[in-house]
Amino acid sequence: MIGQITFQHYGNQQNWVNGKYHPSTSDKTISVISPYFDKEIATVSESNYQDLNHAVDIAKAAFPAWASLNVRDRAEVMFNLKSIMEKNLDELAELIALDNGKTIPDAKGSILRGKEVVEFATSLPSMLKGDSSSVGEGITCTMTQEPLGVVAGITPFNFPAMVPLWMIPLALTTGNCFILKPSEQTPLSTFKIAEYLKEAGLPDGVFNIINGAREAVEGICDHPDIKAVAFVGSSHVAKIVYSRSTANGKRALCLGGAKNHMIVVPDADQDSTAKGLLASSMGSGGQRCMAASVAVGVADVDPIIDQLVEEAKNYKLGVDMGTIVSKAALNRITNYIDEAEKMGAKVLIDGRNSTPPEGYENGYWLGVTILDDVDPNWPSATDEIFGPVLSIIRTDTLENAMKIENSNQYGNAAAVFTTSGQVAKTISESASAGMIGINIGVPVPREPYSFGGWNESKYGHGDMTGKSGVDFWTNLKKVTTRWPESTEAWKKYF
Ligand code: NAD
Repeated sequence: MIGQITFQHYGNQQNWVNGKYHPSTSDKTISVISPYFDKEIATVSESNYQDLNHAVDIAKAAFPAWASLNVRDRAEVMFNLKSIMEKNLDELAELIALDNGKTIPDAKGSILRGKEVVEFATSLPSMLKGDSSSVGEGITCTMTQEPLGVVAGITPFNFPAMVPLWMIPLALTTGNCFILKPSEQTPLSTFKIAEYLKEAGLPDGVFNIINGAREAVEGICDHPDIKAVAFVGSSHVAKIVYSRSTANGKRALCLGGAKNHMIVVPDADQDSTAKGLLASSMGSGGQRCMAASVAVGVADVDPIIDQLVEEAKNYKLGVDMGTIVSKAALNRITNYIDEAEKMGAKVLIDGRNSTPPEGYENGYWLGVTILDDVDPNWPSATDEIFGPVLSIIRTDTLENAMKIENSNQYGNAAAVFTTSGQVAKTISESASAGMIGINIGVPVPREPYSFGGWNESKYGHGDMTGKSGVDFWTNLKKVTTRWPESTEAWKKYF
């Protein structure tokens, strides 16, 4: 048994509306399969417009009372949520592992990163205090950030709790009511978050979950009472959701896919670079938008690559890496490896046919795979593979390395491993990406710095977390006041 990952069927996961589980009116269901067991562990309904309309009506009714609370009272719910999450860390991690395929430590790490946004939300009373100043004789202008109303979030499979937690704490604490459409592949942990929010004191109707897939998403994009949509997922769907939501007059921020590069130069520290390359490309089985799946080696970096290969040999399935999320994803990733090999890539480490951990033989396993001498134009170098595959491209100059990095359509992250300040400065200034790592392979900014990429990795303005997230979920209101002269009768008291 790996950690606490045991098979269990959770039955039909109903929607969550008005503070309780609520059945869908749809008779279509989707099977939720555990990638550890290749077996159904739950079903979710494929919610329709009727289900969505009901949830939006409930959220709309809850909005006036929630929005009129003092921000300190709303932040109090986040204080409570933080402790409840800490208390239930094991439970939440086990559910994430079961439906997503992460290891328990990886699942816990992702929850803790999500909790950072909950903690940041507790600081909103100081951030939302507004601005006020005298703008003319006897005239004051006051500016406040006001909630939008009913808003929605649509999330991917790869971080079933963390990504919803990028959205929920900021959207709720700023005074909005929320509809979440989680990934139909990994719904189990989001319902726990709904239960925890209720336990934390959130009034019924403020937070709601609608299961489903395309119809539920399209309903969110079209619904006239949903004011803003945050999306995280593939670029293909991000673009659709962004276009459809904004065409309907909504505010939208849609984060998409990625193909991140790590540039390695010969002066890089060998040990930490080899470990950094491995951790970045293989963490969460490479199924994260911050995974760097291409290493661009400039000139002779063979000692670093040799150590990388040695370190990779010690990576154990079920310990250092969980499973791939689905059979279809496993086939897609394996095809990329097969293709690259046929095209002439050197397979330094082959994860195909790795030995699965005992008791989990039916799981969707793929071990660490490292491909060398990859051409920058091959699919394994250009596409988001979203699996434990690192492609190494060799080049002679830093300039070429930068060209390879910047020719990519995405722009989530880029990293450089070097001990030279000049090299670090050059890369950080010229990389066309939103998050840059200097000797860090997974440069996720910590709160209050915001998360978000560039180019085809993001549609919309601003970032998902930090101050940018607070701005996304609010409208600015400016009140200009003229203070009248006191009457003659009052002046005698001055
Ligand atoms: P996905 O785009 O398939 O699904 C995301 C959401 O969109 C899900 O809720 C799904 O139900 C819905 N959806 C899927 N197809 C749809 C369609 N045709 N119409 C309407 N809705 C649809 O993404 P995924 O496979 O769940 O997640 C992996 C992707 O997410 C990767 O590309 C990864 O890079 C990206 N991701 C990006 C970030 C980021 O911050 N940029 C973070 C995490 C994941």
